[in-house]
Amino acid sequence: MTDLNWQSGAVIRPYGHTAIPPYGGTALREVPAGDAAVPRLELVEWATRYGLVAGVTTRGSGNGFSLGLWSDEPVGQVLTRWRALTEAFHPRFTGIALGHQVHGTTVHWHPQAPDGWLVLDGVDGHATTAPGLLLAVTVADCVPVYLAAPASGAVALLHAGWRGVAGHVLNAGVAALRAEAAASVGDIVMHCGVSICGECYEVGSEVIERLTGEQLTAPGRVDLRALLATQAADLGIGSVSTSPWCSAHDRDRFFSHRASGGRDGRMVAYLGRPSPRRPMTAKDGQRRPRRIRP
Ligand SMILES: [Zn+2]
Repeated sequence: MTDLNWQSGAVIRPYGHTAIPPYGGTALREVPAGDAAVPRLELVEWATRYGLVAGVTTRGSGNGFSLGLWSDEPVGQVLTRWRALTEAFHPRFTGIALGHQVHGTTVHWHPQAPDGWLVLDGVDGHATTAPGLLLAVTVADCVPVYLAAPASGAVALLHAGWRGVAGHVLNAGVAALRAEAAASVGDIVMHCGVSICGECYEVGSEVIERLTGEQLTAPGRVDLRALLATQAADLGIGSVSTSPWCSAHDRDRFFSHRASGGRDGRMVAYLGRPSPRRPMTAKDGQRRPRRIRP
């Protein structure tokens, strides 16, 4: 039995074998950023090269910094964390948009930044050129796919589990950037963020067939990020990087739906272009400082 499907780029291992995950693209590691109020990791390179904020929240300490809205946790606790997240990014971002994900391939285009917090039903990806809008998806093993077309100022953030990979949600994200922002595919950069690795992600043979066309009689392991990198290469995306973090390997740092037996919380992956700082004008110098009353 072949265990490498070179045509699709998928790595399929019969059950019981140990796979070394072949990360797609170059490895790009998210590093700790911000403060303890909102535990998170970010891509320094995307900040310095593209002026973008790209990152993911982490488990944090104590009960954990879960941002899952549709969980059994008391809603007040979860919303308090969302408020901390919102405050951590204000005023660079005055709007945060989150999709209530359905493992589909719908990508929503935001023509402008909402003022406040927007939750969209049935959306697994979204995109914009609007500064000040932080795109968000929730993850706990599924892949957050970060896309940017630096020349046009457009960004897209997608949620890709196996259904999203099989349904080519990546194509929908790229199509949105092309149609709405006139982005050239060769100029798009892509990062596959923190998610479950190929060694930890075992699926049934029917899932493997949906993903690769390969027909097996036993469960196997698939690397969703490697599959996405292959899809990106097929689309002609200029640059692809992959996080070396695995949500299941690194459970002290991340939430993993699979490794927890479905009991874990949710992280939020986020991507956006901050609002530009308003340049000083002559009027600013004439203004009196505002009095702040105690
Ligand atoms: Zn792993």
